[in-house]
Amino acid sequence: MIKTILPGQTIGIIGGGQLGRMLAMSAKEMGYKIAILDPSPDCCARIFSDKFIEANFDDYNKIEELCKISNVITFEFENIDADSLAELEKKYNFVQSSDVLRTTQHRYYEKEFARKLDIPTVNYIHVEDNTDIDINQTYLMKTLRFGYDGKGQKKISKKEEIESQTILEEFISLDKEISVVASKDKYEVQIIAVVENEHRNNILFRSKVPTTATSNQEKLAIEYTKRILENIEYYGVLTVEFFISNGEVVFNEIAPRVHNSGHITMQSATKSQFRAHIEAICGLRVGKIENRETTLYNILGQDEDYFKDLITKKQGYLHLYEKEPRLNRKIGHINFYGNVILGGNDE
Ligand code: AMP
Repeated sequence: MIKTILPGQTIGIIGGGQLGRMLAMSAKEMGYKIAILDPSPDCCARIFSDKFIEANFDDYNKIEELCKISNVITFEFENIDADSLAELEKKYNFVQSSDVLRTTQHRYYEKEFARKLDIPTVNYIHVEDNTDIDINQTYLMKTLRFGYDGKGQKKISKKEEIESQTILEEFISLDKEISVVASKDKYEVQIIAVVENEHRNNILFRSKVPTTATSNQEKLAIEYTKRILENIEYYGVLTVEFFISNGEVVFNEIAPRVHNSGHITMQSATKSQFRAHIEAICGLRVGKIENRETTLYNILGQDEDYFKDLITKKQGYLHLYEKEPRLNRKIGHINFYGNVILGGNDE
């Protein structure tokens, strides 16, 4: 049974990037103490930590040091060594099980898991060492692990292009992409938001609540997300990304954490994904969440000045992460109420 961790106690966060920062900010609002582990002493979450441990994510002893001072431990990204976590969870309070990490770190395991739950996925070929496979259509070749924002992906159509340790996904036409941000606490699964997402250069550009998916498509996506959460040992926020292709809802991937598209909930929802995650991992009740129409834009390094200038003229909710503004690096996001098309009628 999940333990109740009350304000005043310490939440440990592995990872001090923007997700860790916004989790820490939410927890601090509630009066929790925060311990963060990150390799970079300049990481943007550090300012919200009571205790900071500078260490690499594969430094078992340092992670254990974080566990020792934390009443519950969470993470902002899924690429932590699942074997180390399996050891640590025997002794310390991790509520997002290492099995879930193991599955979601690996694109093939993840798709097999969805299929077992009767959730439709794209057709795929798991390439281990033998690349001698005849193909007669276009595939998106993805690395099995460590892919994000389209990294580690390549469109291929010839046998000679196939690389080992990849997954070849049928390249499908996308009507739209949506994500379901949900939480599981000790009582129930709650849907925090269903979000429509638009990518540019493989990076999330804009998100929107509500989506333009049909109510039946949304219903299916919600049903699949609930099925996933009900079948894993897990408390906290989890996000499932779906494609809508030729009208069908198709599973893409699971993020066992708060998600970039979920940043919209800081304004759209009666409770943000960050607050919901903290509550769920601490054994509190998340409760029902409602949303109002909102648009999110991600802010990349090169966009900083544009958005700083924009808020001098237009009402918006700017969130900057105090990160060095490098090209294509996510340094913030901005939410607007309503359906706001930047560069168009609303500017
Ligand atoms: P992923 O890292 O798997 O989420 O992929 C990044 C982006 O690439 C997705 O958000 C889609 O826009 C696109 N994409 C991924 N897989 C496919 C696919 N099988 N067919 C077409 N587009 C895809």
